[in-house]
Amino acid sequence: MTRFDYDLITIGAGSGGVRASRMAGKYGAKVAVIEHSRVGGTCVMRGCVPKKLLVIGAHFGEYIDDARGFGWTIDGATHDWPALIAAKDKELDRLEAAYKNLLTGAGNTLVQGHGVLADAHTVEVNGKRLTAEKILIATGGWPVVPEIPGREHMITSNEALDLKQRPQRIVIFGGGYIAVEFAGIFRALGSEVHLVIRASHVLRGFDGDVRAHLQNELIKKGIKIHASRKISSVTKSGAVFTAALDDGSALMVDCVMSATGRAPSTAKLGLKEVGIALNDKGAVVVDGWSGSTVQNIFALGDVTDRINLTPVAINEGRMFAETQFNKNPMRMDYANIASAVFSQPPVSVVGLSEEDARKTHDVAIFRTSFKPMIHTLSGRDQRTLMKLVVDKKSDRVLGCHMVGDDAPEIIQGLAVALKAGATKSQFDATVGIHPTAAEEFVTMREPVSTPTPGGEKK
Ligand code: NDP
Repeated sequence: MTRFDYDLITIGAGSGGVRASRMAGKYGAKVAVIEHSRVGGTCVMRGCVPKKLLVIGAHFGEYIDDARGFGWTIDGATHDWPALIAAKDKELDRLEAAYKNLLTGAGNTLVQGHGVLADAHTVEVNGKRLTAEKILIATGGWPVVPEIPGREHMITSNEALDLKQRPQRIVIFGGGYIAVEFAGIFRALGSEVHLVIRASHVLRGFDGDVRAHLQNELIKKGIKIHASRKISSVTKSGAVFTAALDDGSALMVDCVMSATGRAPSTAKLGLKEVGIALNDKGAVVVDGWSGSTVQNIFALGDVTDRINLTPVAINEGRMFAETQFNKNPMRMDYANIASAVFSQPPVSVVGLSEEDARKTHDVAIFRTSFKPMIHTLSGRDQRTLMKLVVDKKSDRVLGCHMVGDDAPEIIQGLAVALKAGATKSQFDATVGIHPTAAEEFVTMREPVSTPTPGGEKK
């Protein structure tokens, strides 16, 4: 008979916490899952899922326009933002119920409340003390709003997903994933969109060609990019907000959104008090087994600030459960994890950027930019970019990059190739599917002789 109430207490019912808890339950562990908000966490309730539904919803506007070039007459098309939000909310309700069922179906006990560590084996929630042999911190992250005057007037992605009305004019601060994704949603639905970025280009950390190409496509769609600028203050007068920029100019809009990054949710959990080390960003410091500095306490997902992507958290959760509850030690391999930005057009990449690869390899670059077939008749001025970064010595493909329709669907397959160590000769030996955009990835024969136009972006 165990001296604890549970084998595992998980704090946080997001993607990582749910996967770990479900699997631990399946392997016979007695598990309690504590969640103070909606079951499903950031990805399902406030991130990937609702965002992608809005991206899909917004993109119909372009499909309608593009259809004219193919003989369709579609007059009087209008969009109903509250209807889209209501449909999205209905789907989130369904998903939350499904996630709850997954937990209870695995024998887990769901406790709605805010859990705080009292000691290394005890969590206080709703005035009760629950004990467990092992504790898992899976509390995710939360948007950071910059410390500027008027910051209280800024919304974040949390609120942007629930706006009662679509703003006619919006300024978004930041140039990362969330900023470009929401800029695309609002622009596609007809809003005037300003993107204020402190760098010269969006998506710092991505390949320079990708950054330049996407930025150009966003501008072509009418997004006004204020590069190398910051918002210095926000004021409100009636229903109008004024975002003052650091060059002395000002933008008058109906909504100001901050998308300047996310921070690990580690406050008010009693972590430091029980001896859990946090890094300088406030993330839980973990080893390769997701173990914290306290022997029986583990952490995974965004709260550890490793690679902040849902499928990574899910896999960390799976491996934690295998290791701790199924006598099957598994460690996460963080190499060649594909990712996507659901901008319009979308970006997807796997492996190294040209800039990162050049630091350690002698590389050959293969690059193509073309008008996708749909736009030969639609008339839309949109180009797709594809790029391969190849190690000259081993011929291995180090990075695949794409900006264009269906990029995430295409790159997912290439991620398998990179995981398997594919060489450029093997890409060349692969016969393409015609006519597709994807076939370009196996028909780029000649390396480009010129370096990345413009060099590394700041
Ligand atoms: P990101 O880290 O992607 O981007 C933050 C942006 O804010 C950058 O452009 C950064 O500028 C800017 N910024 C940061 N601090 C300041 C500041 N003080 N003043 C001005 N600008 C600032 O964060 P996001 O919030 O977009 O997303 C958070 C994370 O969530 C992502 O990194 C990703 O891991 C995950 N995510 C993944 C998605 C996906 O997989 N599709 C979708 C959404 C989020 P600079 O470029 O100069 O550093």
